[in-house]
Amino acid sequence: MPAASEPVAAHSGARPLRFAIIGAGMSGILSAVKLTEAGLTDFTVYEKNLGLGGTWHENTYPGLACDVPSHLYSYSFALSPDWSRRFSPGEEIRAYFEAVARDHGIDDCIRFGDEVVRCEFGNGRWHLETAAGHHDDVDVVIAATGVLHHPNYPHIDGIDDFAGAMFHSSRWDHSVPIDGARVGIIGTGSTAVQLVGALVDRVEHLTLFQRTAQWIMPQDNPAYTDEQKAEYRARPDVLEQSHDNLREMFGLFANAIIDSNSAEIAFIENACRTNLEESVHDPDLRERLRPEYRAACKRLIISPNFYEAIQQPNAELVTESIERIEEQGVRTGDGTLHELDVLVLATGFHADAFMRPMHVIGRDGRTLADAWADRPNAYLSISIPDFPNFFMLNGPNGPVGNFSLIEVAELQFGYIAQLIERLRTGECTEINATHDAMTRLEAARVAAAQNTIWVTGCTSWYLDDRGIPATWPWSFARFREEMSAPKPEAFEYR
Ligand code: NAP
Repeated sequence: MPAASEPVAAHSGARPLRFAIIGAGMSGILSAVKLTEAGLTDFTVYEKNLGLGGTWHENTYPGLACDVPSHLYSYSFALSPDWSRRFSPGEEIRAYFEAVARDHGIDDCIRFGDEVVRCEFGNGRWHLETAAGHHDDVDVVIAATGVLHHPNYPHIDGIDDFAGAMFHSSRWDHSVPIDGARVGIIGTGSTAVQLVGALVDRVEHLTLFQRTAQWIMPQDNPAYTDEQKAEYRARPDVLEQSHDNLREMFGLFANAIIDSNSAEIAFIENACRTNLEESVHDPDLRERLRPEYRAACKRLIISPNFYEAIQQPNAELVTESIERIEEQGVRTGDGTLHELDVLVLATGFHADAFMRPMHVIGRDGRTLADAWADRPNAYLSISIPDFPNFFMLNGPNGPVGNFSLIEVAELQFGYIAQLIERLRTGECTEINATHDAMTRLEAARVAAAQNTIWVTGCTSWYLDDRGIPATWPWSFARFREEMSAPKPEAFEYR
């Protein structure tokens, strides 16, 4: 069996396998590259959008960036010397994924604008149907469908009455003029904070509707100089070292959030508090921006300029609750009508949808709707009992807020590759996690989640319907160890 980082080895007399990869985002591109490298070239990538990049295709809002440093938010096999900044803009990240796909020759394997709507297991194979009516029969499905891609539209009275332009942050309408407009933003998550910094100098008036204040971690975003880029280009070892150093640094954050009593989390809390105290000069505004929960309880926000932007004379923080939306703008509980030309709903996503609404039917007619009737679950986020040869990348309860998601997907793919190898060598024809393995792991995960910062008194998209963080509550070392090789007893083979 190959190690997690090795490609699936070529094997003489091996069973030919056909694959469907669902999604051409970061983890779908990764899967296509890795299968190709392993000589497993009989696959199609199905992508519902008209372009690749997943979240980096859908999100095009002003100020979009990734708050994982670019030299870490890169495939380990495709480090780039050309990143413009420590945290590069979204457009550059999308171009990076396009370049990786092109360089690895996988563009032609992607069916764009073809959403898989049904996926049924029968006679040992998966039968796929797309919205366009295309059918495909495959041996293995890799669901690389992403996490934050179903917009959460708020239920606010009168929302359809607004006469101006209104859209969700992930559906930015670039035909709407922003310069000189009166723009309102609902929400104070990572998206809204990036928007505020990018828009304040362009608009006539910016109104930020805050339901819950956020802790903001200060972070510079310097540009890489031409000399630095030249060195990265000339010295792959320096580029690799930069990636590894950042991973090490990120490890501190990853350890902080899983232990709410750690020195690391105290450091983060202190940095956020100092940022608020030192950056916001008006005491009233400062108090309205001060959260009533601990830093990093919600997804920690990193920003070089949010406090500066919200203190601009044309910016306004509204903390009165929204009563209704009217033709002219947003009416708050104190009776004020905030008149607007554009209203941006930076109200987040349904983080528990995963590959739904795709209709998935596993062994013996068991549906995903049955399996996830309570809430989404999968053994190690990868395999669902009764759904053989169906593997997920960045599935439920994984490390969505802990490490670089690219690194997570790479390690998960290494694990999946080892399961695929068993199919290919004919050792078995069907493989999926057992109910017992999933139940035991879930019990341990729920117990460990009680130590994390996410349960210290806030609401967030990390929490499931029980208030339990739907994420990885252990260290990176443990994650890497788990991903190094599947435990044979955790799987059912036929
Ligand atoms: P989010 O973190 O879920 O924030 C949604 C915001 O909308 C919250 O402030 C929420 O308020 C508010 N909201 C929702 N419904 C509302 C309503 N009916 N009335 C008033 N306010 C309402 O969403 P997001 O900012 O899009 O970020 C989602 C995730 O995407 C992030 O946590 C992060 O993981 C990822 N992201 C990453 C980056 C990056 O740089 N890597 C950038 C953007 C996004 P409450 O807090 O009161 O619920």
